Amino acid sequence: MTQQTQPIFIMAEGNTRTYGKDAQRNNIMAAKLVAETVRTTLGPKGMDKMLVDSIGDITVTNDGVTILNEMQIEHPTAKMIVEVAKTQEDQVGDGTTTAVILAGELLKNAERLLEQEIHPTVIVKGYRMAAAHAQKKLLEIADDLKKNDVVTLKKIATTAMAGKSAEASGEILGGLLIQAVNQVVEDDSSVDLDNIKIEKKVGGGIEESELIKGIVLDKERVLESMPKKVEKAKVALVNTALEVKSSETDAKIQITDPNQLQAFVEQEEKIIKEMCDKIIESGANVVFCQKGIDDIAQYYLAKAGIYAVRRVKKSDMEKLAKATGAKLVTKVDELSKDDLGNAGKVEAIKQGDDDMTYVTECKNPKAVTLFLRGGTQHVVDEVERAVKDALGDVVSALQVGKVVAGAGATEMELAKALREYATTLSGREQLAVQAFADAMEIVPRTLAENAGLDPIDMLTELKAKHDGNNKWAGIDVFKGKVVDAWKMGVIEPLKIKTQAVKSASEVAELILRIDDVIAGSGGSKEPQMPPGGGMGGMPGMM
Ligand code: ADP
Ligand code: MG
Repeated sequence: MTQQTQPIFIMAEGNTRTYGKDAQRNNIMAAKLVAETVRTTLGPKGMDKMLVDSIGDITVTNDGVTILNEMQIEHPTAKMIVEVAKTQEDQVGDGTTTAVILAGELLKNAERLLEQEIHPTVIVKGYRMAAAHAQKKLLEIADDLKKNDVVTLKKIATTAMAGKSAEASGEILGGLLIQAVNQVVEDDSSVDLDNIKIEKKVGGGIEESELIKGIVLDKERVLESMPKKVEKAKVALVNTALEVKSSETDAKIQITDPNQLQAFVEQEEKIIKEMCDKIIESGANVVFCQKGIDDIAQYYLAKAGIYAVRRVKKSDMEKLAKATGAKLVTKVDELSKDDLGNAGKVEAIKQGDDDMTYVTECKNPKAVTLFLRGGTQHVVDEVERAVKDALGDVVSALQVGKVVAGAGATEMELAKALREYATTLSGREQLAVQAFADAMEIVPRTLAENAGLDPIDMLTELKAKHDGNNKWAGIDVFKGKVVDAWKMGVIEPLKIKTQAVKSASEVAELILRIDDVIAGSGGSKEPQMPPGGGMGGMPGMM
């Protein structure tokens, strides 16, 4: 009985498939490559990367998530590692490089175990146990942070900015951002970062950055004839248009007689004048309008000596409300003096070529502006990223109320705890937990390497110190010595570490469980619309 065996195709032509060891090896390789890319940027002695996009725009940065975002990574597994950085950014705002290199190292060490014929599910199980133990240990070793411990908070801020363009002015920026956080923090220690507006301007040095007790808008007053400066400002926030023809309605009006037109125009003017009268009656001398302000309204407001700004972003309107205590008003005819907010001063100030509006000297504002400066656009952009990292760290330290020392100290302490834990296990999971422990050392090792120090010497010394119960022994990358990282003032929020361990171990487990990669060829042959929508595919356009 001979039977002809026909090849059976279950997938569309052009699909590719890799499975088993090949799939694993490919995936791990991709993850390692991503980690390798950002590794050199870790720590205060880390290097920067220059990213040039397709239209030639340049970004110079040290920020893990920014690098990975700009690289436009395509490989599916590599993309999963990029997600780790993004999650870290969303959850904490800092520690993106740490999370990514940890994920890479976990997979690299898993590869070693795979080569020893240890089944992926065993590794996954061991990793999961190790991650859970690490979380428990992190809570144990963390120190409490008191709410009003400004000194420690400032150290957290300067640690976050170490090695970035902001570092030289870290003291000043750190002080400003702690003040900003103190101003907007709620009674339950939570901070809505939306209430700290970051404005940046090229020109001047980083050290000329300032905290403004109020809001700075990149907007000028609608008419030059309006006052340039209003003291003891009474602020009205209007979120409807001060014009008759609302752009949202599309009415058609038929006029058959020139008199009708005249009457219509007069009627329109009357409505606008009534709106302006309402504003004037309320006692407002500053108006921020979320929509348009038409010529007639501009005229009336200017005549009354009112400073008016139009088309203010909704998010800025909300911040203005928090800073001045004004209420957002939708119906102008219901505006009353109770809806107005206060600011010591509202002023148009020239920054470069444009006027900006400064709403300052607010009493106990619940929204503030950090005004960042720097010599060039690239510098201010990178300062902004560093300040955002620092803000994230300070806020999460306040929220969780727990902090750890950096400079590799926490990771070394975790490695030690995990090794001890491994000895309590039997079987192959023990090997996986050990591999997890080894992976933690990637942080101090990389800090040492990036500082041009001998990683083996440093790690040996670190291990000895941790075995001697110096839980915060870390690397002073400037002096090339092992020191107490806490005393050195390198302090980070606990959440950086818990989140990094969590995302890194989860993505490693996810990737390890894949043994089959099926890639469709669909999509790529479809004609692509040029960015922004080209003319070709748009019917009715010429
Ligand atoms: P990430 O994106 O992970 O935040 P960074 O480049 O900001 O990467 O580096 C953070 C690492 O640098 C942390 O491990 C932190 O403890 C360490 N670090 C920060 N300041 C110092 C310092 N002065 N000495 C040694 N290590 C430091
Ligand atoms: Mg950082």
